[in-house]
Amino acid sequence: MEFDHILIRYGELALKGKNRKLFVEKLQQNIRHKLMDYPEVKVKRTQGRMFILLNGEDPQPIMEKVKHIFGIHSLSLAIKVENELESIKEAALYALTNAEEVKKFKVTVKRINKGFPVRSQELNQILGGHLLSHTDSYTVDVHNPDLEVKVEIRQEATYITSSVVRGAGGLPVGTSGKTLLLLSGGIDSPVAGYLAMKRGVEIEAIHFHSPPFTSERAKQKVLDLTEKLASFGPSIKIHIVPFTKLQQKIFQETPDGYGMTVMRRMMLRISERVSQKEGILSMTTGENLGQVASQTMTSMNTINEVTNYPIIRPLITMDKDEIIEISKNIDTFDISIRPYEDCCTIFVPKAPKTKPKRDRVNYFESKFDYEELIQEAIDGIEVVRITDKKKAEDAFEGLF
Ligand code: ATP
Ligand code: MG
Repeated sequence: MEFDHILIRYGELALKGKNRKLFVEKLQQNIRHKLMDYPEVKVKRTQGRMFILLNGEDPQPIMEKVKHIFGIHSLSLAIKVENELESIKEAALYALTNAEEVKKFKVTVKRINKGFPVRSQELNQILGGHLLSHTDSYTVDVHNPDLEVKVEIRQEATYITSSVVRGAGGLPVGTSGKTLLLLSGGIDSPVAGYLAMKRGVEIEAIHFHSPPFTSERAKQKVLDLTEKLASFGPSIKIHIVPFTKLQQKIFQETPDGYGMTVMRRMMLRISERVSQKEGILSMTTGENLGQVASQTMTSMNTINEVTNYPIIRPLITMDKDEIIEISKNIDTFDISIRPYEDCCTIFVPKAPKTKPKRDRVNYFESKFDYEELIQEAIDGIEVVRITDKKKAEDAFEGLF
């Protein structure tokens, strides 16, 4: 006997009424996609539940992968047996003795199939007695068990589940549309991307790169961050924008202190056009109120003037330590703190204006012709598709 199923529970989705079907289908699709390397493994749905049929595969590595998929509330290893008492006893014993760190247990029987001849209460007692008489280190504790051995008798079969493992929560990626994530090499924007994905938003990424002022390693860092994000959903397309010429022009033409604001506005203009081209309806940044000069209320107001696309800012009200905690949990922190400069840190003036006004910035922008440079940057975009299993540098897709 062995665990041959993983039971998937998707709590929040059950509340979603009419959209539920779409959500469940997307979740199933995302799980299938994540388990592409296991052709024998099947992902099935039955009323209100999803099951992974392991077909002989080792459950642990699959459990590890599925744990990160958004939309899953919790998971349990399970055994499927026929609706027959001896098999149920045997499976319950297996579930108990193969769970880790369990001393106290309880059995919970749910008899959905009323045709099964033994009632829940009675079966509870039969199974409890069976488990106690076939082991010697366990006790029953109905109020505070380490493990609840759940027995669910359904029409087609009986499922016996072991420990409950917490899932990633959120909504399945792809059920809330798509956003273009402005991804720098810093700590914040990968976390912002993760949180957008957690609410079901699929992402494409855009990165502004200024060679030779920013190195190949700085670019690789961003590809590595993208690869981490891709482990939480489908593959991610990243647009790498050659930003050097435009950026130099900006800092030549703009009085000291305003360069940063103009640069941010150019990034948004380019991002909006890429969004349009890709049919994406919003942009997402790692901005956080008051953290640095470019992220004051005045600054955000002035930068935002150039687009009327919604800008999602998942981190806007968070404290830095909360952001860092998430980045450590999702494993992007160590990549983000690699020391390579990004384009902003290099060109940033010593004293950027903390209150850059719209009219001043519009005036400075009117003094030089940036349209051609924007177009040149867009024409030079390199597109890479990153999946979590391929190494980022193997994924080169070509120029467009
Ligand atoms: P991060 O940690 O994400 O770099 P930050 O706190 O350093 O954020 P800024 O450098 O002011 O903040 O950047 C604000 C936001 O602008 C970033 O979170 C990111 O979304 C976007 N951004 C900044 N630089 C780039 C870049 N080179 N390419 C793409 N997006 C960028
Ligand atoms: Mg930054």
